[in-house]
Amino acid sequence: MNVREAESGRLLAALTSLLSERGLISDDELAARMAITESASPKQGARIVARAWTDPGFRERLLADGTAAVEEAGVFMRGLPPLGVLENTSEVHNVVVCTLCSCYPRAVLGYPPFWFKSPGYRARTVRDPRGVLAEWGTAIPEDVRIRVVDSTADYRWMVLPMRPAGTEGWSAEALADLVRDSDMIGVTQPKASL
Ligand code: FE
Repeated sequence: MNVREAESGRLLAALTSLLSERGLISDDELAARMAITESASPKQGARIVARAWTDPGFRERLLADGTAAVEEAGVFMRGLPPLGVLENTSEVHNVVVCTLCSCYPRAVLGYPPFWFKSPGYRARTVRDPRGVLAEWGTAIPEDVRIRVVDSTADYRWMVLPMRPAGTEGWSAEALADLVRDSDMIGVTQPKASL
């Protein structure tokens, strides 16, 4: 552990003991909250995407109110910034970035991938989204609009990708295996054969 980590550890311990002393959060609640964050992962997000692809009612609820829909799917969102879900269609392709830092729907998707936090991704996605997508091997037709959306401390976004062609009749489990974190950020698109 380096000096900075040790200092962060001391600050964190001081903060949590103060919160618990003042009755703002119990040790049990804190442990539960940490367990939820640790259990979040791209796989959890992929299950939500696959459910939206196979359950039209859930898809509608997810797009209308992401926070409520993922809570319905078992994600604990209390006290967190709301989640918005952006649907990719044949007319618009969404890409999520946090231009300021690394805001990310961690309760749903787990920790962001390293490149999401990089200054290059944050700056270039805004200036030249098509160029960034091309580097990922993602070609979006010229007549499809690209919408870049900023995740912030107040509102977190994820993308509902288009269901890949050739997956008719697939189970939700099999569909979930196709979905990666980069698909839910919008720099890639899931394909039936990876
Ligand atoms: Fe941020």
